[in-house]
Amino acid sequence: MEEMKLLRPEEECGIFGVFNHPEASNLTYLGLYALQHRGQESCGIVSSDGAALHAHKSMGLVADVFGNQEIFKSLPGKSAIGHVRYSTTGSSVIKNVQPIMVDYSRGSIAVAHNGNIVNAQIIKDELEAYGSIFQTTMDTEIIVHLLATSKANSLLDRLTDALNRILGAYCLLFLTETRMIAVRDPNGFRPLCLGRLGGGYVIASESCALDLIDAEFVREVEPGEVIVIDKNGMNSFFPLKKTTPSPCIFEFVYFARPDSHVFGRNVYQVRKEQGRQLAREHKVDADIVVPIPDSGVPAALGYAEESGLPFELGLIRNHYVGRTFIEPQQAIRHFGVKIKLNPVREVLKGKRVVVIDDSIVRGTTSRKIVKMVRNAGASEVHVRISSPPTSYPCYYGIDTPNRKELISSSHSIDEIRRYITADSLGYLSEEGLMKSVGADNGGYCNACFTGGYPVKFPRLEMDDDSQMGLFEKEIEKI
Ligand code: AMP
Repeated sequence: MEEMKLLRPEEECGIFGVFNHPEASNLTYLGLYALQHRGQESCGIVSSDGAALHAHKSMGLVADVFGNQEIFKSLPGKSAIGHVRYSTTGSSVIKNVQPIMVDYSRGSIAVAHNGNIVNAQIIKDELEAYGSIFQTTMDTEIIVHLLATSKANSLLDRLTDALNRILGAYCLLFLTETRMIAVRDPNGFRPLCLGRLGGGYVIASESCALDLIDAEFVREVEPGEVIVIDKNGMNSFFPLKKTTPSPCIFEFVYFARPDSHVFGRNVYQVRKEQGRQLAREHKVDADIVVPIPDSGVPAALGYAEESGLPFELGLIRNHYVGRTFIEPQQAIRHFGVKIKLNPVREVLKGKRVVVIDDSIVRGTTSRKIVKMVRNAGASEVHVRISSPPTSYPCYYGIDTPNRKELISSSHSIDEIRRYITADSLGYLSEEGLMKSVGADNGGYCNACFTGGYPVKFPRLEMDDDSQMGLFEKEIEKI
């Protein structure tokens, strides 16, 4: 049976919207295409023709769901919002595909959400006690209920009421018949930017989506900002309590596309700097530097540059492997990482190899790759990771497993080295990472590395006993 509790915080998503452009839904399709790396499981677009909202959404990749031009005839109008989603729980079902669209007493509204609301279950229980009936298991639906039940008059006031109740990470895009509204939470966990295209406006999770449609990058949506766009133009509001922003450092490490600008920086340059810093911290006598593609490439270039070692593509990636690849049942089982990566023996044979990746989560990928590189003839395999050990789960929208599954939460670096069978292992330090993003004194959420969660959450939301001690005091404050 479908679980009735809300999803665990395991959603990675991308959002995109266009206001006032004759090809709004087509452009939104392109924007989602550029944001596909933020979620591959399902996607959807809702458009407005000024009088009504129209939706098309389904499980699958953007190109598959919107591959047929005919679909755009059912998405008329000059504004549209879209969403790409990836979740890892059993609730990857069609009813959970976004944007969510509802009709309520004041008209229709659609919402697309990137992030994770940490007090969702408490609010949901409360709303249900007062008679609300939920159609999905997504935390996003709570916002719609809060909007609908608010006693305030204007949409902005109702939205402020709703946002004042929720805690956590949220970039939101709303579409009504006549307005598009963008919201970024006061901590600014997830990226969101504003662009212009002709006489219209564009909102996107990452700037790479603006590039594809030739929109001009105007600026990032500020932490705590609510942008309301209608036929009279754009208005900006800051109706929420201010806090110290804490954008997610893992967007730089892994999640965002290297060609994007997020949190005021180009992701590629940050990753390359992480690689340089890693070389300064963990030098090794070796012959070549080999990235694990694609996530390790910019850091490996930086490592090679700083160490003076040659950069080689010793592992080649098959780019057509989707997340849904199903292993054959019989003799050729256990492809594992082999289906995605294949070594170039001529590059690796007899070489002392430095293998670079962005992170180790459970350790399975590194273990398989070290074996693969050794089997291809490498004489030594040294693993270098361009971020610190990932020891704590993310509750703000990055898919990291619970502590028990995170290898570095319970194993020393030497134990991990032995597990992945590397000759040596080095992680970038906390300070090194902060230096790479140009923030010597913090300013980012790095809870996945330190356990210092900037937005506390109720005990109920936590699935992991081992963390309880850490939060006891903060939880009492809620
Ligand atoms: P693991 O095999 O569990 O240690 O996973 C490590 C690999 O997962 C690395 O190659 C990372 O690039 C990648 N990775 C790290 N974080 C994530 C994430 N949130 N979602 C998907 N892949 C990830």
